[in-house]
Amino acid sequence: MSDVKLQFIGAGDSECLNYYNTNLLVEHQGQRLLVDCGWTAKRALHDLDLCTTDIDAIYITHVHGDHVFGLERFGFENRYVHNEYRIKLFVPRSVLPLLWDETLKGSMGYSSDGENKLEDFFDVCVVDDAFSWQGLDFELFPTPHTKGKPSFGIRLPHRFTFTSDSNVIDDFASLVDDDLYIFHDAYSAGDFHPAHATLQEMRDAYYSELLKRIYLVHYDDAIATRGDALNDFAGWVKQGEVFQC
Ligand SMILES: [Zn+2]
Ligand SMILES: [Zn+2]
Repeated sequence: MSDVKLQFIGAGDSECLNYYNTNLLVEHQGQRLLVDCGWTAKRALHDLDLCTTDIDAIYITHVHGDHVFGLERFGFENRYVHNEYRIKLFVPRSVLPLLWDETLKGSMGYSSDGENKLEDFFDVCVVDDAFSWQGLDFELFPTPHTKGKPSFGIRLPHRFTFTSDSNVIDDFASLVDDDLYIFHDAYSAGDFHPAHATLQEMRDAYYSELLKRIYLVHYDDAIATRGDALNDFAGWVKQGEVFQC
């Protein structure tokens, strides 16, 4: 244990100007897995002296710009600038058609080489409910985010759970079990949002001992001003903050 390093290269929501997209870097045995790749991913990695070729694998939780738009840049640069370096891309089965056919294909489907497939840019691995990477066995779990749009959180049992974008989750305490760190989407700018869990909704759905274990991510630009309003949670994740598990 403690041989996995977690670092949120950003932890802001899609409207943020002060914070990068909520994308999580997982490091183990000198390899790096990026959980989601939003439009700020390249800049956020650059701030940590990393570039696209320092990433060995990417896992995609769902198709929204702050989670996938960076793939266009990674794909083109790695293919045409970095000698056809293909990152391993873990994609949930139900997310894959949305990712390529309805999101990336319009930009990446045709280049000076002619027609392209997603596999021309990435080493695509379709995932059902679990996948292994570098000897670590990750589990996926469906999340209630945007109605009708498949989305999945990621969990490394006993170590961490990350909801990515989500409303409150039924029986969340059982899901996270004894995980050391829990990172939960948190809309802190009001008491209602159709796609993201608000602080009050979490208080209503989760018991207080569970709240104390939850670190908030996907917050708005004003998070640092909210002070005491966050006292019943573990805290909010600072951009670039490292968690060892
Ligand atoms: Zn989303
Ligand atoms: Zn998002």
